Formats: sequence, C-alpha cells, structure tokens
Amino acid sequence: MRYIVNGSCVGCGLCTGICPEVFTMTDEGVAKAIDEEVDRDLATALDAMQNCPVQAIEAQE
Ligand code: SF4
Repeated sequence: MRYIVNGSCVGCGLCTGICPEVFTMTDEGVAKAIDEEVDRDLATALDAMQNCPVQAIEAQE
C-alpha cells in the first residue's frame, strides 16, 4: 500500500517520529509520505496513521 498526507496536516511531527521510514517533514512544515509501496503490515506506519491528531494520513491499497 501507499500512504498519502492530505491537506489537513498541521505539521505536528508525530508521524515522522513514529515512522521515519515512511514520513518526512517538508520545507513547508508539513508531513509527506514517501512515494513508494509500503509493506501493508508495517506497524509503525499504521500507528502513525491512527495517531495523527487530524486524520491527515490516508492509506491506498
Ligand atoms: S501526525 Fe498528522 S498532523 Fe502531525 S505531521 Fe503527521 S500528518 Fe501532519
């Protein structure tokens, strides 16, 4: 699956702390996900998605 960060991101940095393999901060101060397929069972990525305070992370099969 792939992850995307939508326009709701408030740049709290939580996802990059939980799962730096997938999420990184941009120069604009918001998160973005790597543009690659991610193992669907990658627990830290799921954790980041579920803990984002504004539900800005979406998973696409
Ligand atoms: S956890 Fe959510 S709000 Fe915080 S940086 Fe990541 S995508 Fe943005």
